[in-house]
Amino acid sequence: MDSIFDDAQSRLTEVFSRIDLPDDVRERLAHPKRSLTVSIPVRMDDGSLKVFTGHRVQFDDTRGPTKGGIRFHPDVTLDEVTSLSFWMTIKCAIMGLPFGGAKGGVVVNPKNLSLLEVERLSRGYVRAIADIIGPKRDIPAPDVYTNSTIMGWMADEYSTIRREQLPAVITGKPVHLNGSLGRESATGRGALHILDQWAELQGINPKETTVAIQGFGNAGYHFARLAFQHGYKIVAVSDSKGAIYTERGLHPDSVMEHKRQYQELKAIYCDTSVCETGDFTTFSNEELVTMKVDVLVLAALENVITIDNADRIQAKTILEIANGPITSQADAILNQHDITVLPDVLANAGGVTVSYFEWVQNRAGLYWEEEEVNERLAKFMRREAGHIFKRAEKEETTLRTAAYLHGVERIAGAIQERGTREYFTG
Ligand code: NAD
Repeated sequence: MDSIFDDAQSRLTEVFSRIDLPDDVRERLAHPKRSLTVSIPVRMDDGSLKVFTGHRVQFDDTRGPTKGGIRFHPDVTLDEVTSLSFWMTIKCAIMGLPFGGAKGGVVVNPKNLSLLEVERLSRGYVRAIADIIGPKRDIPAPDVYTNSTIMGWMADEYSTIRREQLPAVITGKPVHLNGSLGRESATGRGALHILDQWAELQGINPKETTVAIQGFGNAGYHFARLAFQHGYKIVAVSDSKGAIYTERGLHPDSVMEHKRQYQELKAIYCDTSVCETGDFTTFSNEELVTMKVDVLVLAALENVITIDNADRIQAKTILEIANGPITSQADAILNQHDITVLPDVLANAGGVTVSYFEWVQNRAGLYWEEEEVNERLAKFMRREAGHIFKRAEKEETTLRTAAYLHGVERIAGAIQERGTREYFTG
């Protein structure tokens, strides 16, 4: 299947075969509500003008204003952004958040731009989409290669356009600019709740569990840091340049410290104040994905496990922190091999959940302690995971299908309450 969106939609086939829903629901979930493509002219540092392409897709707003991140990446396409907005719709419903789903993206390699050029691009993107976003319409957030600083510039640009302070238009902002404590680590923390809850259910001891992580960015790093604190043994991590492995286990903070300083991954073990470079092996991202570990964490991009490598996966459990890292065909193969997939729409929902908390705090003008944010996050993640794990067991299906059933039922409920053919024809 060439289109990511077609592949994403194919997941609904099994869902609709298991629950009896009006055709209206299927029809509504097959089409994004609005897709906007824009040109963003940016004055470069050398004085030249460069025009970048951006997209914002609002998939469905039946359950509330749409919500979803903004990605800066050279491979961004409308097809990808549409799929991501569809997954956001399902995810917000799974978590019971009062949001629909959206996503944005700009076709750019931000690593080739200066910081000032990134700021001009970020502000230009907001000017281009300002008519369709807003605290009660569509609320963006960070995603791949965007961060809290960029969200701060974007919120500032939007408030300038609207001539009033509207921090709730964007989440994932810096804490000093009305961001929420705990947002930065929320995706990794939420994913760890899901893995922990699954481990408890299966009687798995974290201290005897080896973990490999693809993607050592915001989500992957915070997951690694917190999982390490919980006793999991992180044996391998990778970024876009390659992977490192060491049997004795990595110290995520030391690896990150080295990466920040030297722009490369290096295996370092730091305990108290003494750091030493451990023996480590460098290898490719593909090798990391197929290596023998207990848990494989995918925290980079989509389409990592496909029909081409699914047969070679050796991990017993896969935690999807990235959106859409496993294709539907690959999913079927993993299922045949009894590999458990903790699905993206649940496992990475910690980010949007704390984004919701940030939006609530911005609108109330009352800010919470970090402990309160983390406690509420734990409650949301564990509550929804509990429903999904039970449902998968009861209906003898995969965790992904159980998660989709859980979310689609909530969306369907909202669509039905607004009226369907059955309602209008009596
Ligand atoms: P990020 O930009 O902070 O990090 C991405 C990481 O992936 C970087 O370390 C990069 O080097 C690495 N990477 C890129 N291409 C790679 C490749 N081919 N092989 C291995 N590593 C590669 O982005 P992020 O915010 O951490 O997002 C990562 C994934 O998690 C994305 O799929 C994103 O949609 C998803 N996600 C993020 C959040 C969030 O709050 N940040 C929330 C939900 C889902």
